Amino acid sequence: MKPRDRLRIAMQKSGRLTEPAQELLARCGLKFRQSRDKLFCFGEGEPVDLLLVRDDDIPGLIAEGVCDMGIVGRNVLQEYQYSHPEAGVALDELRPLGFGRCRLSIALPQDEPYDTPAQLGGQRIATSYPGLLGEWLRSNGVDAKVVYLAGSVEIAPRLGTADAICDLVSSGATLVANQLRETAVLVESEAVLAGPRDLPTDERGEIAELLLRRLDGVIQVRDSRLILLQAPRNALDEITRLLPGLPIPTLTAVDGAPDQVVVQALCAGSVSWRQLEDMKRAGARDMLVLPVEKMLA
Ligand code: ATP
Ligand code: MG
Repeated sequence: MKPRDRLRIAMQKSGRLTEPAQELLARCGLKFRQSRDKLFCFGEGEPVDLLLVRDDDIPGLIAEGVCDMGIVGRNVLQEYQYSHPEAGVALDELRPLGFGRCRLSIALPQDEPYDTPAQLGGQRIATSYPGLLGEWLRSNGVDAKVVYLAGSVEIAPRLGTADAICDLVSSGATLVANQLRETAVLVESEAVLAGPRDLPTDERGEIAELLLRRLDGVIQVRDSRLILLQAPRNALDEITRLLPGLPIPTLTAVDGAPDQVVVQALCAGSVSWRQLEDMKRAGARDMLVLPVEKMLA
């Protein structure tokens, strides 16, 4: 394969991960020009290009060196690793990305009781994830028959082609519509940045490191909120304990009100109404919760 001096990232061409992945890369300051066939996007600022493909192809493209990294569901990455153990060991989850959350779960007909994995012994389980399901069955010592289906897994029990399913669940509405009930969770999934265990040592390695640094900044900012509030000094201990993520706040004196102080704190994660109400009960007032756009320590 010809050596490359530009980093190539694979992402889903069209599906649940497409928009959030594009938005994330845009926040990292990457801009792209799309080719006419809409499969390749040329990076205009940084030397980073995109390849738009079906999500199932992404781990293989990285393993074969066609792409350097990819944005893909953990479920798809792990399925590739279990079903291609030799190529799979060279791949790694470089960063969790916090979108595309779902679970890979076993579901049974609603009226079937479920206690332990052992009761799945001898049953037929339909799935598009034979690698992950096979591994879970082995690690639980269960001997069940894995029935591979590429799609519409949820209707297999009604059709009589399987006794249970192993499929992705997010809200659970599809399961309910098919009179199924989620039992065991095999994988808690979200989109991840997948890449080779060892980053390239040429120029692409430096670009990859730059991208990872920007990504870390973007993720940290996205998950941060700035809280501003005013409080009596004697309530500070309690209010500080209520701040989400227990940040160390910055305090500013209030002119003409020596018993009052303005508290400013950068919190990890969102801030709920309930948390604000608890702080208000503790004496806080004039509370503001602001999103953070950029951060450089
Ligand atoms: P492609 O045409 O690229 O193969 P697809 O139909 O396999 O697309 P999507 O349905 O777009 O894929 O899902 C992509 C990823 O989104 C899944 O692999 C999973 O990680 C994540 N995801 C989040 N919630 C769900 C859900 N409720 N059902 C399926 N996937 C979900
Ligand atoms: Mg797919």
